[in-house]
Amino acid sequence: MTYAIVPAGGLGARMGTRRPKQYLRLGRAPILVATLRALGRARGLAGIVVAVPEARVIATRRLLRRLRVAKILDVVAGGADRQESVWRALQRVPESADRVVVHDAVRPFISGALVDRVVAAAKGGAATCGLPVRETVKRVTDGAVEATVPRQGLWLTQTPQAFTRALLWEAHEKARRDGFEGTDDAVLVERLGVTVAMVRGLGQNLKITTPEDLRTARAWAAPRRPR
Ligand code: C5P
Repeated sequence: MTYAIVPAGGLGARMGTRRPKQYLRLGRAPILVATLRALGRARGLAGIVVAVPEARVIATRRLLRRLRVAKILDVVAGGADRQESVWRALQRVPESADRVVVHDAVRPFISGALVDRVVAAAKGGAATCGLPVRETVKRVTDGAVEATVPRQGLWLTQTPQAFTRALLWEAHEKARRDGFEGTDDAVLVERLGVTVAMVRGLGQNLKITTPEDLRTARAWAAPRRPR
């Protein structure tokens, strides 16, 4: 059985709104709901555990029930950073799970097929999705270019990422022991020396982070006017 974890415990400081970005509207529902509905379309997914800011656990449970979002197993209190939120949600994933998908709450434009592809690539291990870097990459200090980084072999990583439950658990435990903080889950597995498969993600898989991203997302989600 495959279960999913959705870290949605951030406060969205870079968005500059009082309400965390995952609760801002995209069309008629909050971004979080759009993401959970898209994730729920993955055929192989049995249930989803969502980690939200502690003060929003009860309201989010109510919201997801009212909007009849499918496959929600539990809503738990997230932690101080993304990694801690994933760890807390992982505690609620049933032991019978063989694979666990982790997907950011602020990436609503995934397809069920992408999730299924990443899960298939994680057979017996770990997989992420992403896209090769297209632009020329420069390292910048104080507004000045310091170096041009050869983009050969560089990919931008997205979520969903998928893991066997045992491997994700071991990777998080080791990171906690070492005091290592990663910005995704794949890096925790890389630290174990385990190979992470990379599959092609989607150009449309925007991570809504800034007000500009939100404008883009809303334009994409807006119903097209008939001509
Ligand atoms: O902060 P960042 O953009 O990396 O967040 C990625 C995802 O992790 C978001 O969905 C956010 O809500 C989540 N997150 C979390 N708990 C935190 C911080 C971020 O679940 N403490």
